Amino acid sequence: MAQADQVVVVVGAGFGGLRAARALRRAPVQVVLVDRNNYHLFQPLLYQVATAGLEPEEIAKPARAILRGQKNFDFRMVEVTRVDVARKRLETSAGPISYDFLVLAPGGETNFFGLGSMQRHGLGLKDIPDAIAIRNQVLTCFELAMLEPDAERRRALLTFIVVGGGPTGVEMAGALSELIRLVLVKDYPRLNIKDVRILLLEATDRVLAAMPERLREAAGKTLWRKYVEVRFGASVADYDGQRIRLKSGEVIPALTVIWAAGVRASPLNATLGLAAARQGRIPVEPTLQVPGHPEVFIIGDAAYREQDGEPLPMVAPVAIQMGQSVAKNIGSLLRGKPLVPFRYRDQGTLATIGRNAAVAHVYGLKASGFIAWVMWLVVHIIQLIGFRNKLFVLINWAWDYFFYERAARLITRD
Ligand SMILES: Cc1cc2nc3c(=O)[nH]c(=O)nc-3n(C[C@H](O)[C@H](O)[C@H](O)COP(=O)(O)OP(=O)(O)OC[C@H]3O[C@@H](n4cnc5c(N)ncnc54)[C@H](O)[C@@H]3O)c2cc1C
Repeated sequence: MAQADQVVVVVGAGFGGLRAARALRRAPVQVVLVDRNNYHLFQPLLYQVATAGLEPEEIAKPARAILRGQKNFDFRMVEVTRVDVARKRLETSAGPISYDFLVLAPGGETNFFGLGSMQRHGLGLKDIPDAIAIRNQVLTCFELAMLEPDAERRRALLTFIVVGGGPTGVEMAGALSELIRLVLVKDYPRLNIKDVRILLLEATDRVLAAMPERLREAAGKTLWRKYVEVRFGASVADYDGQRIRLKSGEVIPALTVIWAAGVRASPLNATLGLAAARQGRIPVEPTLQVPGHPEVFIIGDAAYREQDGEPLPMVAPVAIQMGQSVAKNIGSLLRGKPLVPFRYRDQGTLATIGRNAAVAHVYGLKASGFIAWVMWLVVHIIQLIGFRNKLFVLINWAWDYFFYERAARLITRD
């Protein structure tokens, strides 16, 4: 470890925290990265774990392994329970940790918008256990359906509802449809595929709202071709684990509801004692510092910052660029130089709806279908951390593509 008296504590080994910790490798500081998990998770591919396409190990990597070559780096696997900005220390599951500089990058959590019944019975998708829970649920429903003599109950077992027409909901619905229609039909030859329903419920009148109209329409058509029933203006009122009730009064029997309708900032934000903006995100200065606490920076999903009149989206590139910017600014603080305000460079958005089908709005260019799908594959392989993960994901995708298989079809129990 470097001889350094200043300690920078980074909370969260996600996209923002990891980038900040890495970018501080040459700074004359000691970097302490803390996370409740021992790994960095590539959340954009979580839905593929949930739909039996990938194993969790292929989209995650231990933080220690990623940064073990960094001399000024230390890692602690702890849950941070409170940030005490007055005493410059964190309270954690393993006692207090003091800091000179703090980079808060705890990300977010599933936002059920106060719908308690959905929180109890629905399935969120934010971490590896969530993805495994969805995989277990979908596969178990098929096993139970094979044993179920009652036709109505069988249909409820084979009805899968995804709530939220953003990128996660669209990708989830498309991948679920392919898992069922291309793979599970072979495992369950006695299954009547007409009993299977996949519904995508969206409260507004569009899916992929951030995409240009042409791409939204392309995505809608692709979902339709994949037998996903997209319902617009469909707001959820209640879910008891057996039936979902919409605000329109319609009731749909379904044993599986996947909630992909929103995220909010980590509850750790609330312990700062500062006023929060939308989704519990904390407003930060242009330099990403917390007002009144120049030694505290907040980045990624936990931070609220507007650019050109719009809030920055809760996406990985924002967190990564903020991590990079914060590391530079901490270096400037140490050298007594002026700090640089953060400016997000938006490279675009991509979403895939299954094999050969994606939409891409990148650097102003719009593409859909096979070309967009290849772009999606390349971007995700490049962004995955670790050569082993890149290789294994590529092999898995190639195998699934050519043999219509999904390797990870195990129902696992604790
Ligand atoms: C299913 C899904 C799909 C997504 N798809 C895309 C996509 O395609 N493209 C895209 O750009 N973005 C996507 N996102 C959003 C993207 O993953 C987030 O914007 C990004 O991860 C935010 O980075 P972050 O560093 O702020 O937080 P995160 O990457 O979420 O990291 C936060 C870290 O903090 C840790 N942590 C949290 N609280 C504590 C605590 N109290 N104590 C200790 N550790 C703690 C967590 O364990 C985690 O490791 C997706 C998100 C999800 C959930």
